[in-house]
Amino acid sequence: MNLVLLREEDFTAPGRVRIQGRRLRHVLEVHRAGVGDELVVGLLGGAVGRGRVTSLEGGLHLDVTLDRPPPPKLPLTLVLALPRPKVLNRTLAAATSLGAARIFLVNAWKVEKSYWKSPRLSEENLLEQRILGLEQARDTVLPELHLRRLLRPFAEDELPGILQGTLPILAHPGVPEPCPRAPGGPVTLVIGPEGGFIPAEVDLLARSGCRPVNLGERILRVETAVAALTGRLF
Ligand code: SAH
Repeated sequence: MNLVLLREEDFTAPGRVRIQGRRLRHVLEVHRAGVGDELVVGLLGGAVGRGRVTSLEGGLHLDVTLDRPPPPKLPLTLVLALPRPKVLNRTLAAATSLGAARIFLVNAWKVEKSYWKSPRLSEENLLEQRILGLEQARDTVLPELHLRRLLRPFAEDELPGILQGTLPILAHPGVPEPCPRAPGGPVTLVIGPEGGFIPAEVDLLARSGCRPVNLGERILRVETAVAALTGRLF
């Protein structure tokens, strides 16, 4: 947590907040903050600034000044085949830290049906993982998140619009074209499930306008592929 993310309801008066729970524990145990110390803070969806600890009684009391904009988002839309629940958490937090502006979680043949029933797909967890990613990256603005349980209608009806005005990249090991480096401008990046996309899905996505590219001979885990591809594209 490199930034204490505040919500409107944390404010007890203008410029004053009181925090409890996970954020309080983190500030005490990891930052080991005491009265008088300064922490980087930000308002969810708003500005970034500093908070001075004024008291630790009944929570963490801070006097805050919010005077800077959060870091800009990358012009990146990530289309991710739904990973297995544990990997979903890590990937969502990582994609948020990296600055993806928009994330779609979609179905694929090799996505197990049970993944869609996981409690990790609850609104609450999807929000929490993105918040962890924001706190990591000192950002305050949540990436948009959309769930699409059917790949074909998504690919045929919605994806062409999403791809418009962006470089449409489908990461798929073994295809001849290498992933471009820092092409400039907005990118839509499609990443497959742990078992990869099946050929019919690659065809479907390519018909919708995606360009299948490889990232080298090494097959990477989903969260590693997200980081490596984002680093290469921006
Ligand atoms: N066994 C699968 C690999 C899946 S890895 C297969 O052979 O297709 C999970 C996803 O990460 C892939 O679908 C792809 O989108 C991305 N990925 C991982 N390594 C990659 C590489 N070397 N080149 C392109 N995409 C890669």
